[in-house]
Amino acid sequence: MLTGVMTSKTANLNLCAWNVRENALLAPYAMFSRQSEGRKYDEPFHPYRGPYQRDRDRVLHSAAFRRLSGKMQVFTGSMGDYHRTRLTHTQEVATIARTIGRVLRLNEDLIEALALLHDIGHPPYGHSGEAALNECLKDHGGFSHNQFALTLIEELETRYTPYAGLNLTYEVLAGQNFRITHAGHSPLLEVQVVDLADSIAYNAHDVDDALKLGLIKLNQLDPLALVRRARHWRDQQQFSVSSNSARQMLVHSLIDVQVENMLDNSQEILGELKQLDSQAVREVGTVLGFTPLMADERRELEQFLFENVYRHPQLSEIRSQAARRLKTMFERLVSSPQLLPERFQNRASRSGVERTVGEYLAGLTDRTCDDLYLQLIELGGTKVVEW
Ligand code: MG
Repeated sequence: MLTGVMTSKTANLNLCAWNVRENALLAPYAMFSRQSEGRKYDEPFHPYRGPYQRDRDRVLHSAAFRRLSGKMQVFTGSMGDYHRTRLTHTQEVATIARTIGRVLRLNEDLIEALALLHDIGHPPYGHSGEAALNECLKDHGGFSHNQFALTLIEELETRYTPYAGLNLTYEVLAGQNFRITHAGHSPLLEVQVVDLADSIAYNAHDVDDALKLGLIKLNQLDPLALVRRARHWRDQQQFSVSSNSARQMLVHSLIDVQVENMLDNSQEILGELKQLDSQAVREVGTVLGFTPLMADERRELEQFLFENVYRHPQLSEIRSQAARRLKTMFERLVSSPQLLPERFQNRASRSGVERTVGEYLAGLTDRTCDDLYLQLIELGGTKVVEW
């Protein structure tokens, strides 16, 4: 249950109003604010914001969130400025997840908090950066962006409070933790919706970005069942689509057919669980998702993207350069930890030098990492940036 001392009549009234609002809007199996297990450090109810709304705002206002604008999703900044960054990907995930959540009558504030958080732990240079740091830290616990997200929001982010971290609700932390452990009951429906929205978003926008960058051609997509389904959906809408906007229309319809399928399938699953609450729905192992046919079609598209986009020679070269840079800087800083910013030097005495250097590098944006490489390695300097 949500704990915390009510500071005023206003707060008390607003907690009541919040409950009335959620009772009117949410399905029984949604996560209600009043069912929250609260926060590590108790806080009074905010006069006009619910607990998950506050979580969302804290993530949005964090420095780590802003740095997502300087982190690559799949394609680097040197390849242009049309394609998604880690930030715009996150925003697309949030909007798709909220759309799904509203139809299923789930807690949209919780969904948005989870969505804005879901990629916050990515290091510079995307998955190649993650693989490089994991290799650097293989004898020191390894590195995963999901784990680092928790480190960021619980330890490294600072606010005006006397304690470190964002003091997010248990449900948001548990949702992020499930991505690491996959242990226990199935996660809250809100967590599942965000993960599904993540895959819907990247399936569609990676097609868009790869087409725009010329890594693939539209006609290469013709044999894919999901693309054929999306084009059929588009034809039914009776839009007149010029050849110039075929790419945009395809991306739009790829998102819609996946969302529609997921919603139809999930509403069928949830229809039988109408009276259960959020905990009971988890205990019976409810898993939201796509129909088996749609799941197959998505796998075919993902395989296509893997072979033709993610392993494209143009990307491979950039990635191996990025990995080399991270490894070189890791070694340099591990051998000279006195170069780290002061708060990381202090942290190194508790967490160990290797882990701390890995965390320091993971928090940098792609550009800052490039600048640091130039200063530290190519010019032999000794100045590092604080973050
Ligand atoms: Mg993502």
